[in-house]
Amino acid sequence: MSRFLNEELRNLEPYTPGEQPKVVGRLVKLNTNENPYGPSPKAAEALANADAGSLRLYPDPDGSDLVAAIAENCGVAPAEIMIGNGSDEILAFMFMAFGKRIWFPETSYGFYPVFNDVFGCEGHEIPLEEDLSVDIEKYKGVPGTVVIANPNAPTGLALSLGEIEELLQANSDTLVVIDEAYVDFGAETAAPLIKKYDNLMVIRTLSKSLGLAGLRVGWCMGCEDIISDMKRVKFSFNPYNVDRIALAVAAAGVRDTEYFEATRGRIMATRKRFIAAMEELGFTIPDSKTNFVFARSGRIAGADYFHELRKRNIIVRYFDKDPIRDYVRITMGTDEDMDLLLEATEEILKEAGK
Ligand SMILES: *Cc1c(COP(=O)(O)O)cnc(C)c1O
Repeated sequence: MSRFLNEELRNLEPYTPGEQPKVVGRLVKLNTNENPYGPSPKAAEALANADAGSLRLYPDPDGSDLVAAIAENCGVAPAEIMIGNGSDEILAFMFMAFGKRIWFPETSYGFYPVFNDVFGCEGHEIPLEEDLSVDIEKYKGVPGTVVIANPNAPTGLALSLGEIEELLQANSDTLVVIDEAYVDFGAETAAPLIKKYDNLMVIRTLSKSLGLAGLRVGWCMGCEDIISDMKRVKFSFNPYNVDRIALAVAAAGVRDTEYFEATRGRIMATRKRFIAAMEELGFTIPDSKTNFVFARSGRIAGADYFHELRKRNIIVRYFDKDPIRDYVRITMGTDEDMDLLLEATEEILKEAGK
């Protein structure tokens, strides 16, 4: 640390991304919830057709064509959408705009506490229930913004649309933000509630279900006033936050609903098969509505399982903190990836002599 760093940033603990090996080679990479099938061929085509000469021009700061594609898919108006450089950037703008006092689950997406600290917000972390679920009763009536990942990470558990609507009604004078990074893998989106509730923001990403984590595109949806507040912040920070190539590739990806349906279906089928096989091996897994499962063995400690897999070139995610240190988070890869993991797991359990 240099002696020049602003004082309030000296104790900041940045977000720790999952390992991104330089050479993936023969690694089975199941640690950052990327999509094993990658982007739509239409997105690949848009990338191949990108015109380098056009890069001399700044991109459309509103990303109107991408916004139109999202509007069509989600059934909301373009004025109810704003795009960002990944949903992480959308979350950052949200904390800047609305996060002065903010409540979120203690065990959730690791970026919430980091944004809270970097923007000097007054964050309140609410513990999960014994079964790792989020109890919305604990968020009702709080005097500030609520942000909840639904489905939650890293547990994979989802709230119902009815529960979210209850929260919106109970907190009608404060903002409720639903981070739907994983919603396409079996949960219900709150997007249709935007027309009904002016205190709702829904955040989405192209990183998971659309297989475009490397492109860095996300968006938020809310009533026009909320979106205009978000744009006030964005246009005060980085108006050209999504580049020309990303805009074109993202729009093509969003429009290819056929590919989207096929790949998310495959991932959910893999999840079902994988969970059954892991339960056979004695693992406990909360009901996952995401492209990952959160697994706990009664026979081997979470940290040991994580390290043993790593030795066998399989990377999953481990969080060394309460109440989740017995679990590992495993991204759904291809069926072959999951078979390799299952084989390794059997071997590890055998070696552990149990
Ligand atoms: C992956 C993830 C994000 C970030 O997604 P990007 O669009 O890639 O920045 C946000 N929230 C949750 C809960 C996530 O898991």
